[in-house]
Amino acid sequence: MSARTDFFDHLAQTSDSPIGLQIVRADGSWLYTEDGRRYLDLIAGIGVSALGHGHPSVKQALTNQSERYLHVMVYGEYILDSQTNLAARLAKLLPTSLDRVYFTNSGAEAIEGALKTARKYTGRQKFVAFDGAYHGDTMGALALAGNDSFRVPFGTLPGPVQHLPYDDERALGAIDATVAAVVIEPVQAEGGVRIPSHSFIQALRQRCTDSGALLIFDEVLTGLGRTGQLFALEHFGVVPDLLVLAKALGGGLPLGAFCGSSDIIGTLAHNPPLGHITTFGGHPLSCATGLAALNVITEQHLSERAREIGDYLVQRLRELDDSCITAIRGIGLLIGIEFDEASHAQRFVAGAIARGVIINWTLNADRVVRLAPPLTITHEEIDFAVAAFKAALAEVSA
Ligand code: PMP
Repeated sequence: MSARTDFFDHLAQTSDSPIGLQIVRADGSWLYTEDGRRYLDLIAGIGVSALGHGHPSVKQALTNQSERYLHVMVYGEYILDSQTNLAARLAKLLPTSLDRVYFTNSGAEAIEGALKTARKYTGRQKFVAFDGAYHGDTMGALALAGNDSFRVPFGTLPGPVQHLPYDDERALGAIDATVAAVVIEPVQAEGGVRIPSHSFIQALRQRCTDSGALLIFDEVLTGLGRTGQLFALEHFGVVPDLLVLAKALGGGLPLGAFCGSSDIIGTLAHNPPLGHITTFGGHPLSCATGLAALNVITEQHLSERAREIGDYLVQRLRELDDSCITAIRGIGLLIGIEFDEASHAQRFVAGAIARGVIINWTLNADRVVRLAPPLTITHEEIDFAVAAFKAALAEVSA
């Protein structure tokens, strides 16, 4: 049986129309398929492959760690230098009040841990999230989703959760002393690459402080250089109470984390002890590759690079000047192209893929196509993508 047949017969499908490329190799910004074609990966495995694919430092870290040990114990019991090195490095790079990290397997698991921490720390029940939000697909994270069509089919979810409009200061009055935590992406990705105003994020910080609600930043996609700062919080001059990371954090291996002060995160260690544990969270391989990737990101100043090359990409996109495109917005290398109709966005995505450029539209804004390439993408690769976009657009408008 071919891999393609087995894929359709034996793997659980997540949609009726998977991209279905059969990948045999990946290198730098490129994916190679079994039919001899190559594709420019302009979504970096949905934000994971910040250094592109197969970075030598990541591969070396993987080899070194695999020769020492793989899994040895549930997270939090043994002292493992792969974990402590990454935790200490993150603590140096983050604001001082975010100097304690809990490692998980994924972004959604880190969101769950952050929600539990907020309930335990505040003794309150309610959460606030935002329209257009995406925080993952476990039950607690899904309850925060700002899109009814993904939430409602799954019935009663953990709550109460109140959804507020994103980037609307007038709505913040709803955050009161009953709220355990407010969860927000400092830039919404699946919500259609929405970049809020400074004053909104600052007013949100103030409102949380005043009401005693914890402010949780979900930087699963925006963290580690993508937006032109190492962490998107730096754009807004505010510090959340808890910060959630994942995706690029593991350098290509599964890893999530939530970071906060020892005062806040410490509540998880008592009453009951072991109230939040994870077998594979903070896997030594993932922490080793994560540290290697983080070192490359900082030593090679890839957040600055994301800003510069992101500006170049936006400038080249603006040259496309097509009547189907109603807006182009970006922050570093997280860029949204908004179309007048969802069907146009879909045809554009299909046309780009057919021409060897992988892009996709966003879950909660089907008129917006998201670009989130590796931070190492070159000008030539961007020119290749823009040429493909031009040809794809000609078909959309035809
Ligand atoms: N938060 C955000 C902002 C995300 O983009 C994602 C994943 N797309 C998640 C949380 C969930 O992460 P994971 O898929 O690792 O559970």
